[in-house]
Amino acid sequence: MTSLLVRHIGELVTNDPSVGDGSPLGLLTDAALVVEAGRVAWVGTTAGAPDADAVQDIGGRAVVPGFVDSHSHLVFAGDRSAEFAARMAGTAYSAGGIRTTVAATRAATDEQLAVHVARHVDEMRRQGTTTVEIKSGYGLTVRDEARALAIARTFTEETTFLGAHVVPEEYSADPAGYVALVTGPMLDAAAPHARWIDVFCETGAFDADQAREILAAGRARGLAGRLHANQLGPGPGVRLACELGLAAVDHCTHLDDRDVAALADAGTVATLLPGVEFSTRSPYPDARGLLDAGVTVALASDCNPGSSYTSSMPLCIALGVREMGMTPAEALWAATRGGARALDRADLGQLAPGAPAHFVVLDAPSHLHLAYRPGVPLVQDVYASPVPTG
Ligand SMILES: [Zn+2]
Repeated sequence: MTSLLVRHIGELVTNDPSVGDGSPLGLLTDAALVVEAGRVAWVGTTAGAPDADAVQDIGGRAVVPGFVDSHSHLVFAGDRSAEFAARMAGTAYSAGGIRTTVAATRAATDEQLAVHVARHVDEMRRQGTTTVEIKSGYGLTVRDEARALAIARTFTEETTFLGAHVVPEEYSADPAGYVALVTGPMLDAAAPHARWIDVFCETGAFDADQAREILAAGRARGLAGRLHANQLGPGPGVRLACELGLAAVDHCTHLDDRDVAALADAGTVATLLPGVEFSTRSPYPDARGLLDAGVTVALASDCNPGSSYTSSMPLCIALGVREMGMTPAEALWAATRGGARALDRADLGQLAPGAPAHFVVLDAPSHLHLAYRPGVPLVQDVYASPVPTG
């Protein structure tokens, strides 16, 4: 077994509050870490580092945990740049635009979809994302949802069945019939390829009763629930997620005091997706208010062709800081450990002994530069070697 010593890390973000400065980021300076068999084997200072088979000198740069992007919709075809341009010229965003992508996705071959996902996963990796959750939701037939998840599964364990994204055109006169399809044959076909089940709980998509029914059907098939909620306006989704004890509820843009209190009480992660507000020119969620109320906040890209066609977690961090009142440390934590919490993955988003050695070398002296230098490609190297099994 070969070991790798990474040393002269100017600033190491461990997200382990038991080391370093004792903050949630667990910051160490002139730090080092040892990687063995794909896992972090040791963390400390360069001066105290043990010997290893190979040595890499980082030259004073910062190292942060790999980003955990807990919300993306990568299995799609087509291009909605014209819709984006129209929106920037004053047209409002509505959930119905999803149907444009559904038509293009249904028409694509498996191979085209797989190539498309691979391209986006690679694009994410180059920007420091080491774990990505991928949803279905642009097929909306039994066959198309199952194949979307089968393709997604070849890229990540964190796959989410989102048959309840929007009621497709052919069921517009029979939404109850569509819910029966989603909770019946579609779920049967999707479940073997999915870890999660999700519902777009929003006016124009699915109401709280439908969401409750769909999540219950998923749970009966072993899928854990998550929700898209309170994106376009106030609604019951966030409180439903808290009542059901879901790991995360995503968007959380339009919240009242009861929603915020429910999130704090339940421990459900509020996943904020500022790429959406940026790309739809909408008011941002109140990250500051959530954090001050004791809510656990994650940041994710929501990478999708309609409302947020960015794959960049550094952009989300910059938006979290500039537009949502987060400190740079809070935003980085939300994009790493927060994402791991949102996926119920205690092993990820942290550089502590035993954790997968998923980390990013920044061409910068500290994590502050992620927000301080928006739009600059600071990700120099990404380590995400697989952890051997068995
Ligand atoms: Zn989404």
